[in-house]
Amino acid sequence: MSLIVMKFGGTSVRTKSTRKSVLDKIISQVKKGNHVVIVVSAMGRKGEPYSTDTLLSLVDKNINKRDKDLLLSCGEIISAVILSNLLNNSGYKACAVTGFQAGIITDTNYGSAKCMYANPYYLNELLDQKIIPVVTGFQGADENFEITTLGRGGSDTSAIIIGAALKADLIEIYTDVDGIMSADPKVIENARFIDLINTDELFQLAQKGAKVIHPRAVKIAKEHNITMKIRNTFSNNPGTTIINEKLKHNPNDMNDVLSSIALLKNRTQINISRVGEKQEHKLLKLLAKKNISLDLINIFPHSIIFTIDSDDIMKCEKIIKQEKLKYTLRKKLVKVTAIGSRMHGIPGVMAKIVTALIENDCEILQTADSHMSISCLIKETDGDKAVKALHREFIDFNI
Ligand code: ADP
Ligand code: MG
Repeated sequence: MSLIVMKFGGTSVRTKSTRKSVLDKIISQVKKGNHVVIVVSAMGRKGEPYSTDTLLSLVDKNINKRDKDLLLSCGEIISAVILSNLLNNSGYKACAVTGFQAGIITDTNYGSAKCMYANPYYLNELLDQKIIPVVTGFQGADENFEITTLGRGGSDTSAIIIGAALKADLIEIYTDVDGIMSADPKVIENARFIDLINTDELFQLAQKGAKVIHPRAVKIAKEHNITMKIRNTFSNNPGTTIINEKLKHNPNDMNDVLSSIALLKNRTQINISRVGEKQEHKLLKLLAKKNISLDLINIFPHSIIFTIDSDDIMKCEKIIKQEKLKYTLRKKLVKVTAIGSRMHGIPGVMAKIVTALIENDCEILQTADSHMSISCLIKETDGDKAVKALHREFIDFNI
């Protein structure tokens, strides 16, 4: 008998018929004799009645941060109550539990709060009474009982926090694809299914834009050494297993140098004329204070170049103007990244990537590399073309 945390994303709980598939997955684990704790996201995507984005469209941007988080937390509450109702109607005792009731205590950083600790007292009590807790993902409360939300992909994080607090045997993240693939299956039809992946590599994939799981969730799973699976709500595929140990490979094997290609959208490049270290240092500190994360930073004798999420343009421009710096913006960019824990030390990978992109008419604006990834900043309109080109070059080739 195991304790399993099962997390269902927005695409899994969106309609009556998809919720039937969710119910079947839960019942199947219970019938195997397992204890389960369910974590749910809000139902569906923008435009659908109870999705988080739809709730947000009910108020204007002047809403204060505290009230905004309270509103944002409602989508998951609706979804948890509906699923609990379904389970009870099917003869399984269940009860909807908010993030706060589940004991997730966060800081007060509304909109992207971090969990400080989790006290699973109430969840354990429900489990002892053989009641299935259906926990709202994406939310917690601060120490003054104010409701907070955990930011994009926050339900993945909730599932891992709860799994770690309960010392669960397994965390299953259910979504609408069979598991981790070599690229977004919506872009690459024949993307390769990855049955086993190491947490470091998955973190890279998540951080570089594959939205199938949130990078923060992967990081916490790694810290707590929890076994995790990513599975499909709508198929019987065993899914991708995520483990902490490094996977063995043959260092002489030139195939399989890359395992996946990710695309990070919504990027803007900023080029600032240099004015002296003191002022530049101040600028970087001000940007950090506003939680603007900088990527692909390059410092040249006459300019500093970096990229940011395009949603941060206004905040960023305000600071640069206030510091009276000269700058230019290049909008509508994306970052394509090739990932593979085996690429380290293998010569010529960067050259091969650059060649593949240039041959497919993708202009490269900036590059960066680490021991297991190589990224190129390109135009938004070249995004899918670049993913296809790199997939063809490195991954299809090996099938
Ligand atoms: P959920 O509603 O379950 O949280 P998301 O939309 O957040 O689902 O994440 C699942 C989606 O992630 C898939 O439908 C797929 O299009 C996308 N995705 C992007 N990159 C990958 C990848 N490498 N492997 C699997 N899915 C990916
Ligand atoms: Mg998701």
